[in-house]
Amino acid sequence: MELPVVNHKDYEAQLNDDNKFPIKKFGELAKALIKNKIVKNFYIPEPCSVETLKEAHTEDYINKIKNKTLDKNEIRKIGFPLVDSVVRRSFIATGGTVLATKLALNYGIACNTAGGSHHATSNEGAGFCVFNDVAVAAKYLTSRGLANKILIIDLDVHQGNGNSEIFKNDNQVFTFSMHSKVNYPAKKSVSDLDIELEENLEDREYIDILKNNLKYLNEEDFDFVFYIAGVDIHYNDRLGKLKISDNGIFERDELVIDNFFSNKIPICGVLGGGYNEDFNKLVELHSSLHKTCAKFLL
Ligand SMILES: [Zn+2]
Repeated sequence: MELPVVNHKDYEAQLNDDNKFPIKKFGELAKALIKNKIVKNFYIPEPCSVETLKEAHTEDYINKIKNKTLDKNEIRKIGFPLVDSVVRRSFIATGGTVLATKLALNYGIACNTAGGSHHATSNEGAGFCVFNDVAVAAKYLTSRGLANKILIIDLDVHQGNGNSEIFKNDNQVFTFSMHSKVNYPAKKSVSDLDIELEENLEDREYIDILKNNLKYLNEEDFDFVFYIAGVDIHYNDRLGKLKISDNGIFERDELVIDNFFSNKIPICGVLGGGYNEDFNKLVELHSSLHKTCAKFLL
């Protein structure tokens, strides 16, 4: 069976070239997935409804995004200009993760080609994250009784502080974040389980730590998993402070997907961060998530 993958051309917002975020990666990733025959046709999402967003965000914050009325400081904290294409992208990428979640329930595994906006809290955006798509989709599942015990496994180099904030009093969602100690955010939040990695950590140690934690996580009876597959753990990333190779990333993805797929737990994969110095490498590394998921559905 072909892997269900969600994509929309509007994931690629119109930013000036001086913006530090490599926004063009979304369009290039979609092209690469078609070219490499991982996907024939994408599932096209609708913008996420305000009703659904309200399950994880305050109405006041949603309206401030919709009406572009954030103040200067709030906009600076996000790092994107608050222009129409960014607003549209925020609604549609969140709709994309909600759609991928529904597809994962039906097919066992599905991915978005964006998502993992894990720094956004209920009332604030930060670090290139406007709406917290995974939090919205997790709430979508629990509030409808579609899942009762969700794991968010966040392997982006940065801590998933938005998710740990949103779910701190929610015992239906377990937040696991394995991240670099010295990376953003300086002041870490408290997840259900945080693993802080030392600067310059390399493949072998990284994979061993991950394996041990998967063993621990397997003792819980999760019925749905979100995987935030950030590739900013790569040694050539502009922001990440770890030293993981291409192979380390492929091995990580395989380990995570295999672990949950073989236990028949539905898994929704989202992109997470990536700021590689080499743009083509960045697209290749992001596509590892989809390539690996597709392999398990063959
Ligand atoms: Zn990141």
